[in-house]
Amino acid sequence: MEEIQSILVGLELLSAAADTFDEATENAVRAFQQSRGIGVDGLVGPETWQALDGARWKLGARTLYHSVPTSLVGEDVRALQERLLEMGFDSGRADAIYGPRTARAVAQFQREVGLTPDGSCGPQTMKALRRLGRKVVGGRPQWLREAEAFRQSGSSLVGKTIVIDPGHGGAEDPGVIVPDGPLRWTEADLAFDFANRLEGRLLAAGMRVHLTRGPSPARPMTSQERASLANSLGADLFISLHLDGQESPAADGVATYHYGTGSGLTSTVGERLANLVQREIVVRTGMRDCRIHAKTWELLRLTRMPAVRVDLGYLTSPADRERLIDPAFREQVVEAILAAVQRMYFPVEADVPTGSIDVRQLRLALASRNA
Ligand SMILES: [Zn+2]
Repeated sequence: MEEIQSILVGLELLSAAADTFDEATENAVRAFQQSRGIGVDGLVGPETWQALDGARWKLGARTLYHSVPTSLVGEDVRALQERLLEMGFDSGRADAIYGPRTARAVAQFQREVGLTPDGSCGPQTMKALRRLGRKVVGGRPQWLREAEAFRQSGSSLVGKTIVIDPGHGGAEDPGVIVPDGPLRWTEADLAFDFANRLEGRLLAAGMRVHLTRGPSPARPMTSQERASLANSLGADLFISLHLDGQESPAADGVATYHYGTGSGLTSTVGERLANLVQREIVVRTGMRDCRIHAKTWELLRLTRMPAVRVDLGYLTSPADRERLIDPAFREQVVEAILAAVQRMYFPVEADVPTGSIDVRQLRLALASRNA
């Protein structure tokens, strides 16, 4: 009982431990249960006890690993998951449970910082995370660090080759079509507009940019043709742009796809790019998050560089469509993709929180560099 009270004191739900399970303790337990979505009864049953036990762990206080059959649970796991997500590693929902997906994200992080990718979070991994941890604190110093990150790695986009692939195209392959009064919106045209805007922004950032097609190709292009074009150019990155469509107007949101079988075999760099693109778009636009998904589509399978396909909302959703046809909104999406591409070239240690890159600042920094 003293233990319960001391945990509650540590969580600042109780001001002092008492000798007995008094009313103040019971209220603190209720407040705790409410905050964790546990049935609120003021009693410490097994579920509440497990949550209380997990709540006392601060990140770094113990080694975290994927334990079978009972997973490690705790606030330290949640803190780790949130940090991984923030850095573009897909640890799944921050549910405070150290499952296989969290272990996989930790391994991916370890690989990027040059540690043995064993998927467990011990002192070395914690040290690498702690170096990054300082960046996650808000306020002025963080902005200065971000500016420093721009200064140091901003120009590394220069000379990199990126292929942008507007989906569909031409009279025979318009993609999703939605009539709108006298107008007719097509996926192919909007995808090209997105690609065109993105091309301008990436060129300004110093990248070599190629589009797989013009505004209206004479005949439909196959996935194979698009992929081999990117391969022959020796592209560093490949981003395919589509819109989605469904019979139900209720379907909406953005989703990003990378190469993978869904059963573990995955392009880790492609997955990271997918995560960054997805998170930047969702955070900056507030569109529904339809998550990232591993697919073995030809386009993703045949391209020999990190490749993603983004479905930038549903043309068939009145809510998404209203935004998609607004050029200012398309510019916002393009800015999000640009930020994601930029983050791909930050060393993991210099990465910044999602939604924090001001691409205008980046452009100014590059302009002053090249002047
Ligand atoms: Zn499409």
